Amino acid sequence: MTAPRERLDEVEERLLAAARVRSSRLREDLAAWVAIPTGRGHLEGIERQREAIVDRLAALGATARRIAGDPRPPWLHGSEAGTSRAIPDASVITTPGAGPAFLLVGHLDTVHDPHGAFQRLEEVGGGRAVGPGAADMKGGILVAVAALEILQELGHAVRWTFLLNADEETGSFHSARLLDAEARRHDVGLVFEPALPGGALAIARMGAGQFRLDARGRAAHVGRDFTEGVSAVTALARCLVKVPEFSDPSAGRLVNVGPISGGAATNIVPDHAVAWGNVRFADPAAAARLGRDLASLATPPTAMPSIAVEFLANRPAKPTTPAVEAIANEAAAVSRALGRDLPFATTGGVCDGNILHQAGLPTLDNLGVRGGNLHRLDEFVELDSLVERTALVAILIRRLSLAGAPRRDR
Ligand SMILES: [Zn+2]
Repeated sequence: MTAPRERLDEVEERLLAAARVRSSRLREDLAAWVAIPTGRGHLEGIERQREAIVDRLAALGATARRIAGDPRPPWLHGSEAGTSRAIPDASVITTPGAGPAFLLVGHLDTVHDPHGAFQRLEEVGGGRAVGPGAADMKGGILVAVAALEILQELGHAVRWTFLLNADEETGSFHSARLLDAEARRHDVGLVFEPALPGGALAIARMGAGQFRLDARGRAAHVGRDFTEGVSAVTALARCLVKVPEFSDPSAGRLVNVGPISGGAATNIVPDHAVAWGNVRFADPAAAARLGRDLASLATPPTAMPSIAVEFLANRPAKPTTPAVEAIANEAAAVSRALGRDLPFATTGGVCDGNILHQAGLPTLDNLGVRGGNLHRLDEFVELDSLVERTALVAILIRRLSLAGAPRRDR
């Protein structure tokens, strides 16, 4: 394979110019989108945000359909306070055409309180603006949409599908099956999560999973028949002190416990206690080891007290593969041609790119904006990355489109 070109050709120069022309419109669009509250299951805002994006893509001749989500595993209920039980639809917006098929993925949901004080995009100096979801990932979806627009404006037909889900921040349980199915129908995956610190591109991610430890005991009044009682809280606590031993960061295994709950009143021996937790793992072997370790806490269901264990590795690890490396090298070459290094990095953070990877789709998953302080009340975007990433994405898509479909990872 020849090394990726470090200079822009004439057509790419025109794409860059088209991105620059949009500079102020990109900022206005971002401000408008950030002002739509889409956090914590706020379906009304999610619908408005969906419409704003679908309208833009429909103007490019794309057709949109809605896909109903799958339910979450019932044992996860209670694991995330404030999470809505409503299941949001996903949207699949697609254009026909020839050449390699690109799957662009963005999540409509954010983590921010839809009724809190953090509601607007505000410039704070230093080329930055803070706002809920400005980087994660309204800015990212915006640069993707703008890249498709300028490609079409300049007459470059590209075959793409845009998948919008609304449950990424809570684990993509509703949309995982759809992500997997679409990944199998496409040739290149692009997810628009924000850049890692330093503007870096993630070329490998750990996987993630969820678990629940459910302890059952026997209730009894503390004063009248204490000795008849069997405390589920004590049984759970005995397990919880073992759980940290399952972590081994140097071996790519991380375990976090919480939230936990148990008991109903101080004068009753509690008959039920439950803890949820999250694991991260570097590879399938580490995931399997965590599954075995957690399962070792389980008792027979008839034991008193009893412990039941649920575990689901819902986001597989995303190691670097030759196909990902080739696309990443092309992205880095384009970035350098645009005047900025695109360093590579690995992360324990997971995203929908993990799911696409598992389906064998070569995927870059954080070509969104540069920014930081994600999920915090000072989440920010580097404003000049709006133009930069619009140009980067458009030029990268064109290059990959001309090169033909890459070999799939599996
Ligand atoms: Zn995100």
